[in-house]
Amino acid sequence: MKKEPVVIKELSAAKRENNFSEVVLGYDEADAVEEAKRCIQCKDPKCSQGCPVGIDIKKFLFQVSQNDYQGALTTIRENNNFPSVCGRVCPAEYQCRKACVFTKKDSPFASDQAININFIERFVGDWGMRNAVVSSQQSVVSSKNNDKKVAVVGSGPAGLCTAGELARAGIKVKLFESLHKLGGVLRYGIPTFRLPRDIMDFEIEQLKKLGVEMVPNFVVGKAASVQDLFDEGYGSVFLGLGAGVPTFMGIKGESLCNIYSANEFLTRVNLLGADKFPQNHTPVNIGKNIIIIGGGNTAMDSARVAIRLQRMNGIAPNTTVCYRRTELEMPARRLEIHHAKEEGIIFKFLAQPEELLGDENGYVKTLRCLQCELGEPDQNGRRRPVIMPGSEFDLPCDQLVIAAGLGANQVLTSVTPELKLDKWGDVIVDKETMETSMKKVFAGGDIVGGEGTVIEAMRMGKFAAKAIVEQLSVK
Ligand code: FAD
Ligand code: SF4
Repeated sequence: MKKEPVVIKELSAAKRENNFSEVVLGYDEADAVEEAKRCIQCKDPKCSQGCPVGIDIKKFLFQVSQNDYQGALTTIRENNNFPSVCGRVCPAEYQCRKACVFTKKDSPFASDQAININFIERFVGDWGMRNAVVSSQQSVVSSKNNDKKVAVVGSGPAGLCTAGELARAGIKVKLFESLHKLGGVLRYGIPTFRLPRDIMDFEIEQLKKLGVEMVPNFVVGKAASVQDLFDEGYGSVFLGLGAGVPTFMGIKGESLCNIYSANEFLTRVNLLGADKFPQNHTPVNIGKNIIIIGGGNTAMDSARVAIRLQRMNGIAPNTTVCYRRTELEMPARRLEIHHAKEEGIIFKFLAQPEELLGDENGYVKTLRCLQCELGEPDQNGRRRPVIMPGSEFDLPCDQLVIAAGLGANQVLTSVTPELKLDKWGDVIVDKETMETSMKKVFAGGDIVGGEGTVIEAMRMGKFAAKAIVEQLSVK
């Protein structure tokens, strides 16, 4: 008989309600081995096809089942530079786990019975980190490119992954980041209760050991242009600029006080320590009736941060997520939705914001919504919300966080006319080499194709690094 999945350890909702401690504790060694043994080692495994970077999952699960963690780490790092990160944040239920033989065909996401590949991967990544194991994929493999240098712009997963791959090929890499801390969304967006910062610190330290030079507080496009970088002798430039510009709803009242974009809200807390006010001088206001607009990971992160801040400040928890479709259509990871519910977040589905009303001082007071029902599927197969006539209703709201999507960061692209952009302002690239319309300039991550995932950004970074090495080698 098939064994049941090994239960994943988590902090109870009561223990995590007024702190930012990591919620999912994951698998210890015994759990990881037992779960890996559930893998039936399919002859023709589909799980690897579900992984955007095509990790040999069958192989690493077998290695874990045999207690060969060093081997498993090598197998994973062959395709994935940051296993401890992906093991925590990958939407595995739509990727490798969905492709697992234990998920029923045509299911919208992975079944509970699917092997917990991501949590085993997390265990292996953490094991490597804990034991300071440096696998061959974290070492320089060539010295023939020592005379070549490449500039990488942006320190999100795309930039970090590209920088690492280039450094391994012996190329001198300088990485420019506009913010004062490195990591992109992994640092300023995803809260610590999902991704503790020592993981990013470890990976960045490894890159430094590989020789990558990091330059924070440097905005390419302002402090120097792309052409300036070439003039300084860089042979290629990689752009991992991300999608850091919030999308607003364009409704009346959106500029009232106490309305934040999710980016600003999360950045203030994650990067500027707003949760530690007054020790840190970067407060966020904390409302009594907080509403978050959206249904993606950014919305879940904002809601879970907001309700923690309410509790930590002695305010009765009252945080609502307003989404215009239903739970099934929510793009957020299933685990985050589950955790949000456990933590007391209220969900208001099929509600489309129509207008924001303020008080006499210009502070938001009410969110007016229209009730929706689901109509025909859109081009992505998600059923569209259709407004029901005469269905207006009001929700009390003294703080609103808008997580309705993110667009391209255009600081650099707006001053680099040689770069061809699509109608959303994303950089157009050759899908195989990631080279842009500007010769020797490559791009990857969310600046190509819009808001995506960490592992997709890394996949593009790897492609670009490979093409850069090839191009530089023949010059
Ligand atoms: P980013 O991570 O955005 O990094 C880009 C970096 O470039 C930034 O640090 C920026 O400051 C810098 N930069 C931009 N312009 C310049 C310039 N001109 N000069 C110098 N530096 C510059 N994905 C998942 O897979 N799982 C999740 O659970 C998940 N949760 C998310 C939660 C939130 C709140 C958000 C916002 C996103 C989430 N995502 C998640 C998406 C994922 O984080 C992104 O797809 C990924 O970070 C994209 O990587 P990137 O390297 O392209 O860009
Ligand atoms: Fe699954 Fe993500 Fe790991 Fe690939 S990187 S095996 S998709 S958890």
